[in-house]
Amino acid sequence: MDVEQKSRFTVNRSSQAVAADQRAILLADPGFGRVFTDHMVTIRYTEGQGWHSHKVGPREPFQMHPACAVLHYAQEIFEGMKAYRLNDGQIAMFRPEENARRFMESAERMAMPALPQDLFLEAVAELVKIDADWIPEGEGSLYLRPFLFASETFLGVRPSNEYIFCVIASPAGAYFKGGSKAVTLWVSEHYSRAARGGTGAAKCGGNYAASLIAQKEAIGHGCDQVVFLDAAENKWVEELGGMNVFFVMDDGSLVTPPLGGTILPGITRASIIDLARAHGHDVREEPYSFTQWRDDAASGRLREAFACGTAAVVTAIGTVKSSGGDFTIGNGDGGIVTEKLRAQLTGIQRGTVTDPAGWVHIV
Ligand SMILES: *Cc1c(COP(=O)(O)O)cnc(C)c1O
Repeated sequence: MDVEQKSRFTVNRSSQAVAADQRAILLADPGFGRVFTDHMVTIRYTEGQGWHSHKVGPREPFQMHPACAVLHYAQEIFEGMKAYRLNDGQIAMFRPEENARRFMESAERMAMPALPQDLFLEAVAELVKIDADWIPEGEGSLYLRPFLFASETFLGVRPSNEYIFCVIASPAGAYFKGGSKAVTLWVSEHYSRAARGGTGAAKCGGNYAASLIAQKEAIGHGCDQVVFLDAAENKWVEELGGMNVFFVMDDGSLVTPPLGGTILPGITRASIIDLARAHGHDVREEPYSFTQWRDDAASGRLREAFACGTAAVVTAIGTVKSSGGDFTIGNGDGGIVTEKLRAQLTGIQRGTVTDPAGWVHIV
């Protein structure tokens, strides 16, 4: 099919695309977020005119006026999704329409124009197709980063009248080399990620900016990731800086903190809830306190805990550290329910396990 005729995007192929042998070297060990493909998609928005100037072109820097609104008031949202190469050579994406929907919801919260779902999906598909040679074989994937930012040159405080939507892509290796290992978490005592009425449920850069000091503190305590408690009572477990959490009890039931404005509604989280229920597990979306977590780990009522999100999919939580002391969950190395759900979800994404709900889309 001739993409260039069918779509509303003008396509301008890069004349400086990375040569195949050089690309092969980069794909051998891409790491995460360091290597970028040859192209990018951009769509502009102007108040009164709407979305315009749909382009697929060479990846290149933006020209920005120093008064560009996003640099001052952080009106910015993003998504994170992956394209995979299936065994039969086809390219697949996992529930991309959910990313498109969440992107609209994030935009609304940040007083930004909502990019129509079909345009979001088309933009992502355009980039995946033109840069398909950048999708790593085997365990790796092409990480896609759609984002939208306020581009008006104006220092007044109000929503911008101009925006740029952009999609870039970055090949990623297997998240954990040599299999997944359990992570150690630090419980943040002094910092909150999100408060009621705030932006916790929107995927915006500002949430990450606010979480970085706590993540730095976690690293300083020898931990991999920070886990945040609620801002109001400093009592209830919410989520990690960029992943949702689940607890697996000794009766086989699962608990995950309920959405409600302060937690990012993860697509992996929603998928795990459905998968676990399909496997006969009782799944409860209910508040779970840090003290309960500690007590349940000690008594053995809590068997496993894991974090989940697009980047690492499902990651076991081994040890939890806080100023009040440390505790370990189970044998500190994950468990069978975590492993079962991880294998099931990655199998569906990779096309090696039946996909009963139609989650996988062929690009
Ligand atoms: C993106 C994100 C997640 C995970 O969402 P997925 O859709 O599963 O990738 C969880 N928490 C935060 C704060 C996030 O930004």
